[in-house]
Amino acid sequence: MYDFIITGAVLVDGRQVDIAINDGKIVAVNAAISADKENQTKSPIYSAKKVLDLAGKYYLSAGWIDSHVHCYPASPIYHDEADLVGVASGVTTVVDAGSTGSNDIDDFYRLTRSAKTQVYAFLNIAKTGIVTQNELADMAQIDKQAVSQAIARNPGFIIGIKARMSSSVVGKNGIKPLVRAKEIQQENNQLPLMVHIGNNPPDLDEIADLLTQGDIITHCYNGKPNRILTPAGTLRESIQRALQRGVLLDVGHGSASFSFDVAELAIKQGIYPHTISSDIYCRNRISGPVHSLATVMSKFFTIGLSLEQVIHCVTENAAQALRLSHKGVLDAGYDADLTIFELKQQPQVFNDSEGKSVTGEKYLVPLAAVVAGDLVLTDEGKLKDVFSL
Ligand SMILES: [Zn+2]
Repeated sequence: MYDFIITGAVLVDGRQVDIAINDGKIVAVNAAISADKENQTKSPIYSAKKVLDLAGKYYLSAGWIDSHVHCYPASPIYHDEADLVGVASGVTTVVDAGSTGSNDIDDFYRLTRSAKTQVYAFLNIAKTGIVTQNELADMAQIDKQAVSQAIARNPGFIIGIKARMSSSVVGKNGIKPLVRAKEIQQENNQLPLMVHIGNNPPDLDEIADLLTQGDIITHCYNGKPNRILTPAGTLRESIQRALQRGVLLDVGHGSASFSFDVAELAIKQGIYPHTISSDIYCRNRISGPVHSLATVMSKFFTIGLSLEQVIHCVTENAAQALRLSHKGVLDAGYDADLTIFELKQQPQVFNDSEGKSVTGEKYLVPLAAVVAGDLVLTDEGKLKDVFSL
């Protein structure tokens, strides 16, 4: 007897499968037996406390992971609720990217324990986190000991550290906070380091040259002068070298950090995102241009990515980059985090952060999230009929 089985799920490669779940873990993924409904109910594999039949009509993937969100509810600037950026839009796991530093990380942890969405955090190297926009303008904000202690207090919650390296954040400190971040990383088990790029100084070349394998550049397709492309539109040599060393590119769309032109030009040259993330918080969720991770993912159809590539960026790639080794894969033994969705073939207008609009031919509609085996329908009430629950 299984806790939960989902039958007739369509994978992004077109295969249909049935999935069995026990104790929050996937225990079997089998080829769907759709021919004989009678036999299915009698077969022991179909004996479960709860059954959801997708009848070959809906897509299912490993649960979507948003590698860059802001969901510390008490943040004075970039606040939101984990479930509003998470399960409400089919996202099973969110990673807050530096809203809190060592001062507030414990409060953040406490506030998000009641969320259905799985919440992790990149700890801001500045002790205040993003209480103000210039958290790294004063080097005294970086207290190495406090960072190490916060990481030790929150194992399994803090999965990495964050350094925001743009002029408005670092003030006159230039590259210095990043040098400190690399030291902190070394002293703390080589945790993933996410680096935000924006306006210079520091110059992107200076930033890129300091990064090593597994470090994550977020806002990778921003349209500011400090972008990954040269004025001629080719990839900066410093970024080319960084990618060869295994540095990863994360989208981090946000209110001001995604340009269709930069993304399209980069992708044409084979510079793909490793992870697609939203940089979502209440304001850009409600008023755009972010809206949801699904919206950000859908934008990549208009610039040449396939459904499989887009889903890969928010599942396997994200789990690897964030070292969530129990997530991101639809296979026995992994966490039973799943996303059920549709691909609507309908024109849709998408806006980037630079005021450009592009009309796409299709877009993703998340229908439900399964988190550790529990089904949560997305915000759209009409979907309750779809699943007749
Ligand atoms: Zn952010």
